[in-house]
Amino acid sequence: MTTKVITIVDQRAASRVPVTPAHPPAPGGALADARGRLLRDLRISVTDRCNFRCTYCMPKSVFDKDYQYLPKSELLSFEEITRMTRLFVAHGVEKIRLTGGEPLLRKNLEVLIGMLTALKTHDGKPLDIALTTNGSLLSKKAQAFKAAGLQRVTVSLDSLDEAVFRGMNDVDFPVADVLNGIDAAHDAAFASIKINMVVKKGVNDQDVVAMARHFKGSGHIVRFIEFMDVGSSNGWRMNDVVSSAEIVRMINAEMPIIEAESNYTGEVAQRWAYADGSGEIGVISSVTQAFCSTCTRARLSTDGNLYTCLFAQSGHDLRALMRSGKSDMQIAGAIGLIWNQREDRYSEIRTEETARAKKVEMSYIGG
Ligand code: SAM
Repeated sequence: MTTKVITIVDQRAASRVPVTPAHPPAPGGALADARGRLLRDLRISVTDRCNFRCTYCMPKSVFDKDYQYLPKSELLSFEEITRMTRLFVAHGVEKIRLTGGEPLLRKNLEVLIGMLTALKTHDGKPLDIALTTNGSLLSKKAQAFKAAGLQRVTVSLDSLDEAVFRGMNDVDFPVADVLNGIDAAHDAAFASIKINMVVKKGVNDQDVVAMARHFKGSGHIVRFIEFMDVGSSNGWRMNDVVSSAEIVRMINAEMPIIEAESNYTGEVAQRWAYADGSGEIGVISSVTQAFCSTCTRARLSTDGNLYTCLFAQSGHDLRALMRSGKSDMQIAGAIGLIWNQREDRYSEIRTEETARAKKVEMSYIGG
């Protein structure tokens, strides 16, 4: 058995079929975990496949032609995803993010978006539905997604420097095609467009200021993300992390920025506004300033495992409950118990040693 096979087998083997309580209480829209954190966000990985091989996420050395992705029968269908989402929403989820892998590789994604748009929050409001994509296929799909009800898009782009970007995506994908995707999203008039840039020391930190400058005044918000020890294949070392404080310092030296208030409690990015009023940037400091204490996010893997932390080592097999005919009440009860018992705070206790633990891959549980 090769290492690649072990990677996938471990991800599933470490999952447990959850207990379904005999008399589950009806979901009340305010489900708290063991640390008092409410369940508010659900990130859904719609595919474990990606057409990029970003060196920090799906390095070619592991995700090569022999890597065993999930077979189609293992993926949650759109109906199953929608049913699961409805149960999470009954517990209080208000925000959905479709991710992956590269979500646009999932055929007819606009159909799923339409199905999710029809759901309402516990108090009857529309759900906030967003998508994270590498942008490579966005110019073809932006209009259809908007028409289906998608409101917000985040496009990942790690550098505007052609050689650096092609090297980081490791499939020689050009910058211009991602920029075209962002333009298509702009033309489709999404309520919000954000750009994610993962910053890795000695690789693309020299491109931070150029990225900020490029989007300054565009209305789009660039978010600079500290390189994280997600999964167990990206060779993470603390020395490769550029802190958000350093990123803020670099940008501020060229284009003054002022710290801005959070839009809401638990917002992942810290906001910084340009002093001249021409927009804002965000920094995501999972490594240097952990935000576990306000984390309200659950993750649903491509094959229907629930993970209560991005850095989890095992999940809860909700698909097994669904496919064995359990009722909505039973599955909602299981979700309730899992969240009630949630204690995760990985980023607060991270060390070089925990970073080496066998965590699930981000492409599988969703970024
Ligand atoms: N394929 C899509 C994309 O490229 O945006 C969605 C999935 S990707 C896993 C989601 C986000 O996670 C991207 O913005 C990506 O840059 C970020 N990401 C992946 N690995 C990371 C790491 N090791 N540290 C920080 N961010 C990471």
